[in-house]
Amino acid sequence: MRIGLEVHVALPLKSKLFCSCSSSAEEPNTAICPICMGFPGSKPMLNERALGIAKSIAAALNCRLNDFISFVRKVYFYPDLPKSYQITQIGGAVGTGGYVQTASGRVGIVRVQIEEDPARIIRGDDYTLLDFNRSGIGLVEIVTEPDMTDEGGMKEFIIELKSILYYLGVDIDQEFKVDLNVSTSGDRVETKNVTGMANIVNALRYEIKRQGVMASKGQRIGMETRSYDEAGMKTVQSREKETEEEYGFIYEPDLGEYDMRKVETETAVYASRIAHEYAKRYDYSESTLRELIMFNREALALIDGAKGGHRMQNIVNAVELLIKYRKTGINGRDFESMLGLVENGAAVRKETIEKIERGEGISGYSAVSEDEVNKEIADIIRSNARLLEDYKRDRKVLNFVIGRVAKKHNADPRYVSEQLRKVLRDVFKVE
Ligand SMILES: [Zn+2]
Repeated sequence: MRIGLEVHVALPLKSKLFCSCSSSAEEPNTAICPICMGFPGSKPMLNERALGIAKSIAAALNCRLNDFISFVRKVYFYPDLPKSYQITQIGGAVGTGGYVQTASGRVGIVRVQIEEDPARIIRGDDYTLLDFNRSGIGLVEIVTEPDMTDEGGMKEFIIELKSILYYLGVDIDQEFKVDLNVSTSGDRVETKNVTGMANIVNALRYEIKRQGVMASKGQRIGMETRSYDEAGMKTVQSREKETEEEYGFIYEPDLGEYDMRKVETETAVYASRIAHEYAKRYDYSESTLRELIMFNREALALIDGAKGGHRMQNIVNAVELLIKYRKTGINGRDFESMLGLVENGAAVRKETIEKIERGEGISGYSAVSEDEVNKEIADIIRSNARLLEDYKRDRKVLNFVIGRVAKKHNADPRYVSEQLRKVLRDVFKVE
């Protein structure tokens, strides 16, 4: 079996791809203009921020980066496309010939390209509505080779791809739309516009079963375009069939060529690779680390930044506490303080973290354990037999103990002072 995907995700842009309309309007048909409505005579103007993001994605997917890119008009008639063509790319795509590495193998990337989304169609029982807010939203399309061979491999690829996109600032909670190509017999069957992991998996399972039944009856499967029926959890023959194979592509003269050589890229973060390395280095569970960092920028930064000498389990526990209490934006130093508490088995509550964040020191929450502080205080007192006698006359003689211990552990002197009183009472029976 061979599985290939065409993935569409929205580029993180505030305005649309070829006009200045907002890309996030909610009230239908409020973010529209002659360009994204496709009025005759209107000309597209490229939102050039799209170039940097798309190039970063192509680079992250190990693609060859084209020096010059251009656009084409994919001509077809459909109600969501009043100008009768979608602006997309083929030959002049941003990147070609890349790959994504997963635990089950390598999935080839045919190309990474920029294109515009058509309008949204809302179908009722006996009517159809169109929302042009979506028309002209910038998308990146990622086309894979049919290199995935089973459901597990496909899921791994999708998670890996989503993680890479997440770290490049692409909002993967937005629509993640996939055209799913499944071939069990040599004939490629494409299921269009499947959204979300659960639906993609269900569509795949259905196609495997459907094609299997046909093959067992000796029927030819045949090349076909289908769509996904979410309610029925099945793929169905597409009503759009007649248009699909009949696109005309012509060069888009309104946009011309773009020189990509001066477009800067962001560096990719491969969280799965980092999880794998840390799991080996710290002899720790890779799946736990993946769970924590594949889609959590902050968790990755904290784990990365935690100074040496900590056990991975403690680092993970501290990060999980932050996630549990929905704490974001904690700095490295505060995280070290938290880590100290976790390492000493101190109970870290939401209030503790808030105290640390407010910079109220960690009085009473010293990174060193209470037992250790008390032992040090007792040791200093024992090392000088006269101290206790002097103390009975002049209470100030023990102030140097507070200073010494507080300084050594960077602890709040008020906390050490409290511990000193406890030690005197409990160990030396002096009130
Ligand atoms: Zn517009």
